[in-house]
Amino acid sequence: MSGTFDCTRCGACCCNSEENRAEGYTAYVEVGRRDALNEHPELLERWTTPDAHGVPHLKLDRDGRCLALKGRLGRRVRCEIYPLRPHGCRRVSEGSEACLRARRERGIDVEAGRVELRR
Ligand code: SF4
Ligand code: SF4
Repeated sequence: MSGTFDCTRCGACCCNSEENRAEGYTAYVEVGRRDALNEHPELLERWTTPDAHGVPHLKLDRDGRCLALKGRLGRRVRCEIYPLRPHGCRRVSEGSEACLRARRERGIDVEAGRVELRR
């Protein structure tokens, strides 16, 4: 099947991966020095937690979801800080291997929700 996915009906890559969990990571994507989120201390405080070196990383809830992810996985989701999401959040593209792996890990059928690309 061709096409791509509608991320607003997924959210799988906004959750800690099995690999990260196995390695004991309890926070998510790093907020780099050049990420615009750094210019918003109140948002940093709310959505991130510092690692052992003081570098902010996105906070996870007890289910391993980024705290900024709202809604129901695989149904309808939104990112509370979408315009300011760190660089690392922008790496996974719809339909890529990482995307398909994340969907599988979260039990979101790989083919379900695939939409045709509009040209
Ligand atoms: S796993 Fe893929 S479809 Fe789901 S939100 Fe991430 S990039 Fe979008
Ligand atoms: S900040 Fe937004 S895009 Fe990044 S992991 Fe969290 S919910 Fe997903």
